[in-house]
Amino acid sequence: MTEEELKQFKAALSITKVAMDLGIPVARNRFHCFFPTRHAHGDRTPSVSISEERGTFRCWVCDDVRGDVISLVQFVKNCSFLEALNWLKGMYGFLVPGAKPPLQNCDDIANAAPVNKASTPNRMVQTAALVAKTAVREASLEYSSPEPVKELVSEDERKKIILAFLKMLSPVDRTPAAAYLARRRIFKPTWDKMLLRTITDYGTLNNKLKEMYDLEVLKYVGLFNEKGNLRYYKHPLFFPYLDTKRRSCYFQARAIDSSVVPKELNLRGTVPYPYNVSALDQKPGWVYLCEGVVDTLTFLGQSIAAIGIPGVRSFKTEWLPLFKNKSVVLCLDKDEAGRSGTEYLQSVFAQTGIRTVVLGEGLENLNSSMKEGDDINSWFGGKK
Ligand SMILES: [Zn+2]
Repeated sequence: MTEEELKQFKAALSITKVAMDLGIPVARNRFHCFFPTRHAHGDRTPSVSISEERGTFRCWVCDDVRGDVISLVQFVKNCSFLEALNWLKGMYGFLVPGAKPPLQNCDDIANAAPVNKASTPNRMVQTAALVAKTAVREASLEYSSPEPVKELVSEDERKKIILAFLKMLSPVDRTPAAAYLARRRIFKPTWDKMLLRTITDYGTLNNKLKEMYDLEVLKYVGLFNEKGNLRYYKHPLFFPYLDTKRRSCYFQARAIDSSVVPKELNLRGTVPYPYNVSALDQKPGWVYLCEGVVDTLTFLGQSIAAIGIPGVRSFKTEWLPLFKNKSVVLCLDKDEAGRSGTEYLQSVFAQTGIRTVVLGEGLENLNSSMKEGDDINSWFGGKK
């Protein structure tokens, strides 16, 4: 790595993110000094401040506690400059200048086909390259510019990749995602039942996926962005949409930092069925229909049969047969959008002869009823 490349690499790194990946709790651009005994009260009020803009940190008491992102790694890991740099390269290799340039055309895809990799992804790459080549050749007969490739991998293979990806994620126990859920009064029995997952080491996962699959395939299935990285840098909490066999080929990812917009990322493509579709078991009974996964999980924590839809407009009429023998309690947010969504769903269900009631209707004047602006989670005492 040249000096210029090192400069670029350092500039691309967020020192706050690196600090957090090193296990340093950063709050409001500050953290506790590595030498608390030098401080009054053991550095109860954090003395080290971070400048995200300059990529540096500095303790206001200790003259020797200061430096850039590399010295930060050296402090925490007590290692040499080179070891620190190598650790950063391992974690954030995708930010190294000139690392794995995005594939330009199908010849590149074919040339990039790995020799020693697992047989399935390898075959997939070859198939993808072949499909791409054929498409381009056919297109070039008629058009001056090549048409985009329609199907890079089959629908079956796409599902397998999503399933494999979900299997690579970690359980949420003892992670920041667990704290996020607990604040919303969603606890371990629900995490386990619904197989909630999280990303604990973004850099490693990002690299591992790129080793396993061709980048174009990862983009095609919706896991990677145009820049060639895993999309879920800011959305580390995963809600897999489990089918009745507890398998999943669809999920929603959620930000646990409230400043992130949007707070949810749905996997590209159509929603195959409502969240927790197992509750639609064709047996007579009531099911609570919520907007969003968090509200659904809130009900599940109370042992109430609930299903979730990502948004009112994502409800599909072809799902109606799934509701056979059920009556539905509509539990949308108590706001303008929730009310118009409720009306829409009432009419859709009515046309199929499915009985609906609106949660809390007729009980508006009780102290316990949902207030304007409430959702199910806040109603049950969850905090935003
Ligand atoms: Zn200090």
